[in-house]
Amino acid sequence: MLSVTFLGTSAARPTVERNVSAVALVREGETLLFECGEGTQRQMMRYGVSFALSEIFFTHFHADHFLGVIGLIRTLGLQARAEPIMLYGPHGAKKVLTQAIQLGVERIPFQVEIREVKPGEVLGQRAAGNVQRDSYEIHVFKTEHGGGSVGYALREHERRGRFDVEKARAAGIPEGPLWGKLSKGEPIELADGRKLTAESFVGPKRPGRAIVFTGDTRPCASVVDAALGADLLIHEATFGEEERDRGC
Ligand SMILES: [Zn+2]
Repeated sequence: MLSVTFLGTSAARPTVERNVSAVALVREGETLLFECGEGTQRQMMRYGVSFALSEIFFTHFHADHFLGVIGLIRTLGLQARAEPIMLYGPHGAKKVLTQAIQLGVERIPFQVEIREVKPGEVLGQRAAGNVQRDSYEIHVFKTEHGGGSVGYALREHERRGRFDVEKARAAGIPEGPLWGKLSKGEPIELADGRKLTAESFVGPKRPGRAIVFTGDTRPCASVVDAALGADLLIHEATFGEEERDRGC
């Protein structure tokens, strides 16, 4: 299960109905947040995005992309969070995000780690909080928006084949843990003594999905490369064609 929730689609200025930048990606029960514009925590509540997230990814540090982290971190503190949270961003992340985290007089009761990333870097396996990054990677790539902005591509490893529910039912396998075992490719034994292997119930392996996320950027070759073959490309556009000169 993979879902993408657009929490902010109004670029740099909010409207009554739409907020500034933020996208939540939920995959296998894990929530990743990309950007955290002002008011993102309210959008998370509104659209049912879990606060039990462990990682936030920033593409650059224009205020419309990160101001929301100030309030979100406070709310997590008020919720008595104990698990650390990891914030990723390009060069400047340490300075800007440290200032954001320290703004105000509250003490943050959990660890906030800030990691600066570079284009070409691959964020691989990591097991912390609710993150179990063992079946996908996040590739960092260059975008063109000044100040060393980056984009992120979530690339899944090859996935298990699809479990054929109808076939399992027809074979009289009771729904529950046995379905789970078969779908993972493990053999099972039924109460009546029948021994079954997974092959006849699980389809061929499937290619991993790729979700590519850029913040603001001029059209550039690195985004095209990153987005090649992607299932979904999410990018931002602040200025319409009539304001082209302001945008470039
Ligand atoms: Zn920007």
